[in-house]
Amino acid sequence: MFKFFIRRRVRRKKSILAGFGRRNYLKYKEPARELILRRVEYFNSIYNFSYGRISVRNQRSRWGSCSKRGNLNFNYKIVLIPEKLADYIIVHELCHLKEFNHSKNFWALVAKTFPDYKKIKQDLRNPEIFHTPPLNLKGRGVV
Ligand SMILES: [Zn+2]
Repeated sequence: MFKFFIRRRVRRKKSILAGFGRRNYLKYKEPARELILRRVEYFNSIYNFSYGRISVRNQRSRWGSCSKRGNLNFNYKIVLIPEKLADYIIVHELCHLKEFNHSKNFWALVAKTFPDYKKIKQDLRNPEIFHTPPLNLKGRGVV
């Protein structure tokens, strides 16, 4: 029992995506959707993969995912972080359309757009990346 409690606490502490509440989701999901659709379209003009539905979700542990059917899911909190990090998440999921794994080939595809992806992955673990309200929605053409 005690052990279980400790483990849960540790895991919860680890996710920087937890604790934003439903209100922020309702407030930012549409701006997030606009940003995501626009950036998916832009980056896919480089990669030219085919994809299915794009969903925006309120998740506590993932930035995004790609299903075997080619549907892409993104966390709305993407709109609360710096543009480069948001773009990396979009490129990461796009590349899963071609490579459904984290193989060497997958990272080579990501590196075409982000040669410094290792540094970006590190930055994404830092809770200080979030800005609420978003600092640069205007600059991203969302508002
Ligand atoms: Zn991945």
